[in-house]
Amino acid sequence: MNNRLLFLGPPGAGKGTQAIRLCDSKDLMHLSTGDLLRAEVAAGTEFGLEAAAVMNRGELVSDSLVLGIVQRKLINQSKGWLLDGFPRNLAQAKALNPLLEKIKQPIQAVILLEIDDELLVRRLLSRGRDDDNEPVIRNRLEVYKEKTAPLVNHYQDKGLLRAIKADGTIDEVAERIEQIIS
Ligand code: ADP
Repeated sequence: MNNRLLFLGPPGAGKGTQAIRLCDSKDLMHLSTGDLLRAEVAAGTEFGLEAAAVMNRGELVSDSLVLGIVQRKLINQSKGWLLDGFPRNLAQAKALNPLLEKIKQPIQAVILLEIDDELLVRRLLSRGRDDDNEPVIRNRLEVYKEKTAPLVNHYQDKGLLRAIKADGTIDEVAERIEQIIS
């Protein structure tokens, strides 16, 4: 079984929903940088205040802050894990590599959730989070295409990429993911 996984895909593709399900059933740690950042925002820390402003524009929080969060979670982690929302650009992916080498826990599979833009916008608008209004959503999609989509080739070159279609019901998508990782 593959138990060190990474989810890749645009905002609204269902990464969070599928990640919670998969981590429950396979007993993996769910490492969502979006959730961790929102926890900082909710706690009202100085860092949270700074992050909130960036997140509400749909831009990316600084690499060094996000890397610090991820590093603390991965070190001393004995079970498998699923990275969700990280890495989000090539710099983060390149910084992650030496960290995983150091702890001798390479990624085993990168699962790409593929879906078309209009469906994404509709899904995100119905979710209603602070950063889910149309202009901010469109900006997050642009940021995804510019910064995150290059990771598809990056992980394809490493032979790790597995793409699935993320339309259909939650159960259907979960089934596609199960098939890929088992
Ligand atoms: P979504 O999947 O809808 O884009 P996330 O919960 O993954 O939502 O992320 C929400 C916001 O948190 C992003 O728009 C960004 O501002 C910030 N964020 C999350 N992960 C990262 C990351 N790895 N690097 C930089 N910013 C991040």
